Amino acid sequence: MKQTGIVYHKDYLKHEQSPMHPESKARLISTLDFFTKKGLFDNPKIKLIEPTLASLKDILAVHHQRYIEFLKEESETGGVIDPDTTIPAGLFDIALLAAGGAIKAAQAIIKKEVNNAFAMIRPPGHHAKPHTGGGFCYLNNIAIAVRWLQRNGFRKILIIDWDAHHGNGTQEVFYEDDSVLFISLHQVPLYPGTGYPNEVGKGNGEGYTVNVPLPPGASDKCYMLVFDEIIKPLTEEFKPEFIAVSTGFDNHFTDLLTSLAITAKGYTEMMSEAVKLAEKLCEGRIFAVLEGGYSITKGLPYSMLGIVVAMAGLDILIEEPENYMDELILVKRDGAYEIVKKYIDTVKKIHSQYWKCF
Ligand SMILES: [Zn+2]
Repeated sequence: MKQTGIVYHKDYLKHEQSPMHPESKARLISTLDFFTKKGLFDNPKIKLIEPTLASLKDILAVHHQRYIEFLKEESETGGVIDPDTTIPAGLFDIALLAAGGAIKAAQAIIKKEVNNAFAMIRPPGHHAKPHTGGGFCYLNNIAIAVRWLQRNGFRKILIIDWDAHHGNGTQEVFYEDDSVLFISLHQVPLYPGTGYPNEVGKGNGEGYTVNVPLPPGASDKCYMLVFDEIIKPLTEEFKPEFIAVSTGFDNHFTDLLTSLAITAKGYTEMMSEAVKLAEKLCEGRIFAVLEGGYSITKGLPYSMLGIVVAMAGLDILIEEPENYMDELILVKRDGAYEIVKKYIDTVKKIHSQYWKCF
């Protein structure tokens, strides 16, 4: 029987920058309650996996030693990276546990304990660069897991980052590397202000960074178009041995930090497409890592359930409550689809010199 792993540890609830910070423990608490109510943890297709701490060797494969020393020292009494990213006392071990959670998701697949896995971890990671954290992130969890995979026999890895924000940290880690194809879909303009189609990688990595900007109001239909026109053909040409997904949930139409218009059903469809690609090209090896998403009771529980349903092939209908669906009309913009088409054309034009499919 096929099984999907959910990597989780109660210590992920210990991290708190301040009681009002949007990257809060409530993000996981509300979703776990919802999963329990839906009987997810009693389902034989779901396996709960406990993570362990990432090792120093694991994180030094991505981050500079000076930054790691800084993070460790500041974690003893508390410190600051940027106004959105403070270092609460005790942060270092929780950040190691988050990175270790991403590694564990990949490891459980290799060991054939599960077919695929979702790391429900925090703090998130995709804004963390080799020399510094930022944007609520300290260690780049997905990059650390990808480097771990590369030390364990897998070379060509695809990272799809569909968090609403550009995965600038992950981009920087792999910018000059042709072994990792990094595709990021994100709202522009928005933090961190990067992620334009002309950022394509450098040196050996030229052509292996693909940025697809999306306008405010982009809906499920827009994302599916990007899948059909960009992600599927590129993935088939690249032929990855593993797929890693940075799944933020801040593209949900109720998210307060962004202006995108994805529904929980949209997330389910996107993950189903990613799973299909993994099944076609790399024996189903795919793991997803939690990044952002701040709509505690609306976006997060339903969308995260959608991801798990798609990965495990569960017979659960993803239907969001009617009482907040009105908000979708306020966020969705009809003109967004035409803008997305233009962005797609730009991406194809720029990348046609690197990829036959364009
Ligand atoms: Zn985000």
